[in-house]
Amino acid sequence: MTDQIAGARAASVAAPSAGASSRGDAVVVGGGVIGLGIAWRAALAGLQVTVVDDAPGRGASWAAAGMLAPVTEVHYGEQALLRLNLAAAARWRAFVAELEQCAGASVGYRRCGTLIVARDSDDNAALEDLYRFQRSLGLQVERLRGRECRHLEPGLAPSVRGGVLAAGDHQVDNRALVAALLTACKRAGARCRAGRVAAVRVERDRVRGVVLAGGEPLEASTVVLAAGCWSGALGGLPPRVLPPVRPVKGQLLHLRGPAEEPLCQRNVRGLEVYVVPRGDGRVVIGATVEEQGFDTTITAGAVHDLLRAVFELLPEVTELELVETVAGLRPGSPDNAPLLGPSQLEGLVIAAGHYRNGILLTPVTADAMAELLVSGRVPAAITRFSPRRFAGAAGAAGAPPSRSSVDVSSPPVWVSRTERGLPR
Ligand code: FAD
Repeated sequence: MTDQIAGARAASVAAPSAGASSRGDAVVVGGGVIGLGIAWRAALAGLQVTVVDDAPGRGASWAAAGMLAPVTEVHYGEQALLRLNLAAAARWRAFVAELEQCAGASVGYRRCGTLIVARDSDDNAALEDLYRFQRSLGLQVERLRGRECRHLEPGLAPSVRGGVLAAGDHQVDNRALVAALLTACKRAGARCRAGRVAAVRVERDRVRGVVLAGGEPLEASTVVLAAGCWSGALGGLPPRVLPPVRPVKGQLLHLRGPAEEPLCQRNVRGLEVYVVPRGDGRVVIGATVEEQGFDTTITAGAVHDLLRAVFELLPEVTELELVETVAGLRPGSPDNAPLLGPSQLEGLVIAAGHYRNGILLTPVTADAMAELLVSGRVPAAITRFSPRRFAGAAGAAGAPPSRSSVDVSSPPVWVSRTERGLPR
């Protein structure tokens, strides 16, 4: 926790009216990793915080794979996001230490590194592009031949042609993270309220609190909108302040094998699939990227495609038990970056649109937003990601990302493959 947050007590964002603290300083709408992370840090700083969610931690935060992968997730035109992702990755070790101490439970943080591999020469050419791009950004990556990849991961197929090692891209067990954040919130004094927010209550151009689905009002001087992909449709708000966030479906698989004979030690990524080994025999395989609205159907085709793609890289996957299939909804934004900070409506702050990196971005989001709630000032780390950059873009929610809204300055191979469905 930053000194600024730790030292502050019960201040509030956006100049609350007199007596606000008796009504609660902040209501957080949504108890995924983002809402829970913010609530935990704000409660530690002394704010009276209530998180409202009827299924906390069961949204995208539950479905995710848990990769903490700023280097392997880098994409052309997303350099500002890369800086935020790197800042987030740098905070993880300290964040985990503090969270595990607070919650009294492990979050399965594994400093395992990530190996991206090419199954053929076309893939290898694409990897070469990615490698050069990563190097041009000063990222820590190592180019490997096929046999060097197999030396690191003996289970890789003989056909693997080469790879890129990102030794600093790690993982966390996102479901353990959610559970720990819930415990830590309660221990820090945040209230976790089961329920659905029907509407934000707005009077005289400022937020006064929320109304739950059953009609019960909760007063607060500040409302934090952290409802993942559902953030763009919350009731009571004028369209101009609704964040243009949309659901991006991802299907993934959970498998299990013997802990003593792991499928792989590191996160292994191909151009069509990723494999995240938990270190105890559990393996997560993902993920599709689908613009299907709020649909969460598991399809046979997706299961087939994921298993086929991983079989080409790690053939022994066929020996593992298929334990679970999951579909989750990433909170996508028009430029793939989160919306963080005050909205145009006094008392409403937004933390949404974390798309494919919300687990990675949890520490930096939680600290920056808590600091904003405490001091009323937007921390430098998130100024670039103001929700106001989409002012008037309310109609964009639900629309697929437009190429024109992204700075695709130097595209070719990596970007075009991404648009064909690279796992994210
Ligand atoms: P969510 O976790 O979706 O939480 C939103 C919460 O808001 C939900 O619990 C919901 O019940 C609640 N809610 C909604 N509306 C209301 C309302 N009206 N009232 C009260 N509560 C409400 N990120 C990574 O960093 N690494 C990965 O490897 C990774 N893999 C992923 C794989 C898949 C398949 C998916 C789907 C996502 C992945 N992500 C990954 C992205 C990451 O999961 C998300 O960015 C992150 O979980 C977003 O967190 P959130 O709290 O904003 O949203």
